[in-house]
Amino acid sequence: MSELSRVTKAVRAGINTDPVFGAVVPPIQLSSTYTFSGYDERREHVYSRSSNPTRDLLGKAIAELESGYDGLITSSGTGACLVCVEALLPVGGTLLAPFDCYGGSWRLFDAKARKGHFELRLVDFTDESSWTPAIADQPSLVWLESPSNPLLRVSDIAQIAAAAKAVGATVVADNTFATPALLRPIELGADVVVHSVTKYLNGHSDLVAGAVVAATQDLHTELSWWANALGVTGSALDSYLSLRGLRTFHLRMAAAQQNAAEIADFLVQQPTVRNVYYPGLKTHPSHELATRQQSGYGAIVSFELADEAAAASFLNSTSLFCLAESLGGVESLVSHPATMTHQAVPEALREAAGITPGLIRLSIGVEDVADLITDLSQALANV
Ligand SMILES: *Cc1c(COP(=O)(O)O)cnc(C)c1O
Repeated sequence: MSELSRVTKAVRAGINTDPVFGAVVPPIQLSSTYTFSGYDERREHVYSRSSNPTRDLLGKAIAELESGYDGLITSSGTGACLVCVEALLPVGGTLLAPFDCYGGSWRLFDAKARKGHFELRLVDFTDESSWTPAIADQPSLVWLESPSNPLLRVSDIAQIAAAAKAVGATVVADNTFATPALLRPIELGADVVVHSVTKYLNGHSDLVAGAVVAATQDLHTELSWWANALGVTGSALDSYLSLRGLRTFHLRMAAAQQNAAEIADFLVQQPTVRNVYYPGLKTHPSHELATRQQSGYGAIVSFELADEAAAASFLNSTSLFCLAESLGGVESLVSHPATMTHQAVPEALREAAGITPGLIRLSIGVEDVADLITDLSQALANV
């Protein structure tokens, strides 16, 4: 049979592989430990912190989607980021990261840099004059996040990865926002992809998990060693549920993305909305690059109201859009980056990244789009 498509692989991960009962859905393995078959005779699994059949199945399924060699599953997306910085940065090395990266990633990087583990340098990866000199200084690790959160700025992964490789840096891409349905950074030259599986891959807002996908066997071995040593590998139950979520990932993504495009068009026409940030809009500064680099524009839409008071009125007026952190679930959410996801980022840095007090971020779900637009209309009427 010819090579299966990505969609088929995600739907079919582990299906009909149970040799005992012929179970169609792979059973969950909750055991923390496994018997040795005899003195000094290990089986495939020894202890579930190190490896677990259910978790490993999910890691392999995500790696297939990302065109990676293999993947490991962590207890959160933040745990995935931690594994990368521990494994891939030498003491005294430099981590080059986006100035507008996910708030929790910034907090981790900044705290470890302040402890003296490495040097953190922040640049704007959408501006060549910002990142080119920083890469010339030979960082050990280059961290990419495209499109960025919450303004959806797109950086040229192939170009940056090539420049980073030329100075011997390792390239990690956080692909949580774009997902492998739209973008596969390893195909563009990244060495490692990290995910908050909490978001689109699981897609049902009912667990917290992460993934680290490596392009090569050597990198996977090193990253897995660290995940086990740090004790941040994911649970079997969360992995089982994530695998279930992954089977409908492409369907959910397509439906949410279609809704997002309609909502972006709606928001552009509203007099109280100042700016709409969605890479699918021709007015978005990254529209051209997003069109070239991605196979879709995703399902996150951000927009700006006049000020914090307007944002507060809006946020208190939606009913279908729940005011909550996170994104990527089947249900639509709304958040206020300045006081929520990016609260840990100092105000000056936040302002520089364009995260104003009037900025609102929508995670568009798979509801009927007419209902979502009605909800946004009535909330905007209160601004
Ligand atoms: C949520 C998120 C993370 C962190 O993942 P958790 O599962 O919440 O720990 C990292 N990067 C991005 C882009 C995210 O959206």
